[in-house]
Amino acid sequence: MAAPADELIAKYEAVIGLEVHVQLGTRTKIFCGCPVVFGAAANTNVCPVCLGMPGALPVLNGAAVEMAVKAALGLKCRVNPASRFARKNYFYPDLPKGYQISQYDEPLAEHGELEITLEGGERKRIGVTRVHMEDDAGKSIHDGFRDSDQYTYVDLNRAGTPLIEIVSEPDMRSAEEAYAYLTALKEVMQYLNVSECDMEKGQLRCDANVSVRPRGEEKLGTKAEIKNLNSFRFARMAIEYEIGRQVGLIEGGEKVEQETRLYNADTGMTVGMRSKEHAHDYRYFPEPDLTPVRVGGDWLEGIRRAMPELPAEKRKRFIESYGLREYDAQVLTADRGLSEYFEKTAEAAGGEGNAARLAANWVMGDLMAALKGAGIEAAPVKAERLGELVAMIAKGEISGKMAKEIFARMAETGDGARAVMEREGLKQISDAGALEKIVDEVLAASPKQVEQYRSGKTTVMGFLVGQVMKATKGQANPGAVNEVLKAKLG
Ligand code: ADP
Ligand code: ZN
Ligand code: MG
Repeated sequence: MAAPADELIAKYEAVIGLEVHVQLGTRTKIFCGCPVVFGAAANTNVCPVCLGMPGALPVLNGAAVEMAVKAALGLKCRVNPASRFARKNYFYPDLPKGYQISQYDEPLAEHGELEITLEGGERKRIGVTRVHMEDDAGKSIHDGFRDSDQYTYVDLNRAGTPLIEIVSEPDMRSAEEAYAYLTALKEVMQYLNVSECDMEKGQLRCDANVSVRPRGEEKLGTKAEIKNLNSFRFARMAIEYEIGRQVGLIEGGEKVEQETRLYNADTGMTVGMRSKEHAHDYRYFPEPDLTPVRVGGDWLEGIRRAMPELPAEKRKRFIESYGLREYDAQVLTADRGLSEYFEKTAEAAGGEGNAARLAANWVMGDLMAALKGAGIEAAPVKAERLGELVAMIAKGEISGKMAKEIFARMAETGDGARAVMEREGLKQISDAGALEKIVDEVLAASPKQVEQYRSGKTTVMGFLVGQVMKATKGQANPGAVNEVLKAKLG
């Protein structure tokens, strides 16, 4: 089925709610002491608890609860003083217990929100319905073995890995907004050190609920839930496709079925997988082997007090106190380490105005280029030292061109800006006395241009400045050269 024309799609409004699973970065699993490691030999990090042996009892990992609480606070949720685990029963080969331990009617936290930034800088709040804890299942491996055409293998290393599920309100209205939500969510989790959210390692997984309704209509349309979205880009493409598919159905006089669909990245389409399952299919009941989770008092207050500044707030502060542009603030706060690097650079450069914006340009330009895609931890120049260099440019001690040379030497040697500058003799000549001599020589050698200037053709000034720069091998301060020249030419 071809996607309907844009004008047709424009008659409808899309409604999207996301369910995101985030793996908590604990050392050990949520209900046993098995290590959580990616890429270990299959079925080596398992024990009676995570294998679901009869009689083995789960013990809740306190570090997992603390991370889940941090995540909930980062999403501005109300943390419930008591929450409860429940068994979600279903049969699947990678689920040895026969049930997942999750939270159902008494989740860890509710009523949150996440601010997203759209293209053009527009901001929007997306409601977060709930955050709850659960354990992960194992992994079915359908290919890669000689007899994979006949068998599926199961690796249970992942079984029992701590997860949180973050359920959003149906507040998003386009694939772009969903993409921005995922980006913002990942940033918050990374700022909090709750998860690295590496999708290639399955640390962040997303299901998208999508429906459409005629514009102006209040009642929500029937939704389809799309699974298997293993990158943000795929999520955006799948939602885009699904919106078109649903509009096509309705315009063709058909109805959208409530169902679970799978996204196929090769075809770019979603395909029906099964009709929607309902909560009662899972026979939820309270987990009898675990006591309610109580989070409150000093513990909760302690976590709250230790919360770092979050990306959305940091962005606003960077714009206000350093005068950054929206886009630059966005880039510099996308990663917590990078934001801290920038801030140290800006402070060392003088802390405000021109110097701070110059610091932003240097971090986003030359420093990023020097990183060649590596993380900021690998920065070849310390923030304080880059700040010193930026301060020297801001004060006119060196030109931007010299700064680039100095920066390259700093990255090679690890030396400070001033030390490199002095050793390489890259100091900018701003002193009028020192410049006058050179200017006199240049004027003596360019009688034609002097003549032209004096008869009103002031554009030859550029030529004269250029000659002085050449004579000083680029070390003259262009501003100072200009002044000396003007004075000499009367
Ligand atoms: P279910 O009972 O089918 O699991 P929920 O009410 O629990 O549905 O919602 C699951 C997710 O689907 C949430 O993120 C929610 O915001 C979203 N959602 C609910 N209704 C719709 C709808 N009509 N269109 C799009 N998303 C929806
Ligand atoms: Zn175990
Ligand atoms: Mg639900």
